[in-house]
Amino acid sequence: MGNFRYITNRTLLNGAGEEAGNIAVLVRNDSDEADVKYKCPECGFSEQTKKPWQRPFSVKCGKCGFLIRLSRLKDAIKREKKKLKT
Ligand SMILES: [Zn+2]
Repeated sequence: MGNFRYITNRTLLNGAGEEAGNIAVLVRNDSDEADVKYKCPECGFSEQTKKPWQRPFSVKCGKCGFLIRLSRLKDAIKREKKKLKT
């Protein structure tokens, strides 16, 4: 995996909180372009595409326009902790 500076594979929730989609992002060491493969959690549309790499990273579904955000893992963990406390 030394050829990539960023790599992730996430499950995506739809509006109802169900795990209905996923996204995989790869960024090569020598590239500012991300290889993206996703399945939209809202409409089920799947696509493989390339996007300029930037943080925070987001992709718009090519069919329904749903904005898929790639939150930092740390933020996701923080949110989980907050949820547990309340
Ligand atoms: Zn969609």
